[in-house]
Amino acid sequence: MAILVFAEHDNATLSEQTAKALSAAFLIGTDVDVLIAGHNATPAAQAAAALANVRKVLLTDDASLANQLAEPTASLILSLADGYDTIIAPATTNGKNILPRVAALLDVMQVSDVTAVVSPDTFKHPIYAGNAIEIVQATDAKKVLTIRTASFAATGTGDATAPIENIAANGENAGLSSFVENILSESDRPELNSAKIIVSGGRALGSSEKFQAVMTPVADKLGAAIGASRAAVDAGYAPNDLQVGQTGKVVAPDLYIACGISGAIQHLAGMKDSKVIVAINTDEDAPIFQVADYGIVGDLFEVLPELERQL
Ligand code: FAD
Repeated sequence: MAILVFAEHDNATLSEQTAKALSAAFLIGTDVDVLIAGHNATPAAQAAAALANVRKVLLTDDASLANQLAEPTASLILSLADGYDTIIAPATTNGKNILPRVAALLDVMQVSDVTAVVSPDTFKHPIYAGNAIEIVQATDAKKVLTIRTASFAATGTGDATAPIENIAANGENAGLSSFVENILSESDRPELNSAKIIVSGGRALGSSEKFQAVMTPVADKLGAAIGASRAAVDAGYAPNDLQVGQTGKVVAPDLYIACGISGAIQHLAGMKDSKVIVAINTDEDAPIFQVADYGIVGDLFEVLPELERQL
């Protein structure tokens, strides 16, 4: 049973999401190859080759793949699909953009957001915004899976290095879409997806100025990423790439501090797998306290500055 893991990378570096998707792949089978599709992506391929137990790395280095647009990338994966029973990608923006296209072109169903591998064809994944876990058996000859990486530990580096095989881009679908621009917010903070600690703010923060003034000092002291509820994002208190939840990012840090967040199911869907949850809320009946390991009933404008002083 051969498995192809489509890697998340920025050509220069390999994302940890790939190493986590790889751990899911090894629960399905042992013959696991990694596909690096990109441009000037040799460094990412070398990083993938160093990961433990990878059979080989397929490197397709071509200008048409520099930004991993769905059409040419899916077409490349499709051209390799004959050799694999299972095709996997981390459930990142890229993975969620490309893999459904692969599944559709293969005419198979995709199993999305896999959180556990029960057997090589049976998987657990959340449905209804994480309120229920479905166990689903994929009976298609080829399985196409996206992996919720927060549920898997990253595969570490191994003693041996896997061979890197160069594969030519097949050139199909290259003109169907074109890359315009990527606007990334610059930040020295850890990435929300990989941060060990997240301090997250809700509607109670009241304005972007107060959000900055109260959240930043605590996050700085803890070396934490900052997150936000959708209400805080919609109100303009925080940029939308900070949103945690069903329609934002799904995170599972060691510590999640929810400040002035009520704990709506759509928010919980994005953070309830955090290892330790601390909630600060004036309302002792707020639903967030049902998932919190530690709850502070109090005004965040008093509690957070005090927490910063204590830290
Ligand atoms: P509120 O629910 O208004 O809660 C504010 C909390 O702050 C209250 O509990 C209050 O007691 C407390 N508070 C007030 N003042 C203070 C103070 N001074 N100190 C301490 N606590 C105080 N939401 C998300 O977060 N992420 C998503 O991805 C998301 N996706 C959604 C998708 C859909 C399809 C829908 C319908 C909704 C989605 N939502 C999402 C919205 C979600 O339902 C809630 O509306 C939202 O999470 C509420 O944000 P909040 O907790 O900041 O605000």
